[in-house]
Amino acid sequence: MAAQIIDGKQIAAQMREELKQKVAALKAKGVTPGLAVVLVGDDPASKSYVTAKEKACEEIGIYSSDNRIPATTTQNELLAIIDTFNKDPKIHGILVQLPLPKHINEDAVLLAIDPKKDVDGFHPVNVGRMVVGQEAYLPCTPHGVIQLLMRSGVKLDGAEVVVVGRSNIVGKPVANMLIQKAPTGNATVTICHTRTKNLAEHVRRADIVIAAAGRPNTITAEMVKPGAVVIDVGVNRIDDASKKSGFRLVGDVDFEGVKEKASQITPVPGGVGPMTITMLLFNTVQSAEKTLSK
Ligand code: NAP
Repeated sequence: MAAQIIDGKQIAAQMREELKQKVAALKAKGVTPGLAVVLVGDDPASKSYVTAKEKACEEIGIYSSDNRIPATTTQNELLAIIDTFNKDPKIHGILVQLPLPKHINEDAVLLAIDPKKDVDGFHPVNVGRMVVGQEAYLPCTPHGVIQLLMRSGVKLDGAEVVVVGRSNIVGKPVANMLIQKAPTGNATVTICHTRTKNLAEHVRRADIVIAAAGRPNTITAEMVKPGAVVIDVGVNRIDDASKKSGFRLVGDVDFEGVKEKASQITPVPGGVGPMTITMLLFNTVQSAEKTLSK
């Protein structure tokens, strides 16, 4: 029987509706959540991500400050902009779109963001808080994966999870969230990477597979246990002459093959993707809510 599709668009829309109500409640108390978005340079992919983030803010009533600055901006100039937003009470979240031009040190920039406004969850203070199980801004894509699992009724407690990929933005944090002693965790997690000896052997044991390798067809049907839940984080462009753009997007999972074996599966696009921006909105609203409890 074909797997049930985990519809990221629908789950994201539901979460955005919940957030819209929270924003309205905040506004009624005199607080408008504010997000500062900083884009250095004019990389087309970054531009479209930033535009999508700003549009999503607008849709649920978050104020967004749009800061598109030239690629020639110096590191000190960027740090000064961040400092202004750190001090600005109208701004509850700061997002610096990555990657940055080569002459700017990304670590220095991430460190400069006030951890209380670090809605991307990349500041080492937030990463550390997440690891030790304290309240933190959780990084958006992995947090989106957890929400997809929870809201699709997938049992995490005691589940065998295999995460394919160990990056700081997806693999490591999602694995970390899943091992926490919490209702959103309690799983037994294996992390695989390019030095893993027998990827298929690990994946075959998994009740839940999370693919974040950035390579098409990393996970094929023969690697998946019947009834497993498969979350595909990958976004890869492959040539497709039938498309006007000349390409189409695919994940890391052979969707057509795996959907015949899995119990639930995310599509690409329309799975994890819509959740990433939603979790950015979630963190920004959370930051604004904290100003009320001060
Ligand atoms: P990344 O930094 O390139 O990391 C990829 C990881 O996968 C690395 O740890 C690598 O291992 C591992 N890997 C690659 N090929 C493998 C293979 N054949 N077998 C086992 N492990 C393999 O990528 P990322 O930033 O984590 O992103 C992963 C994918 O998710 C990309 O396609 C990206 O576009 C997508 N993504 C999507 C969203 C979204 O919102 N939907 C957000 C972020 C990322 P080594 O460490 O050994 O090199």
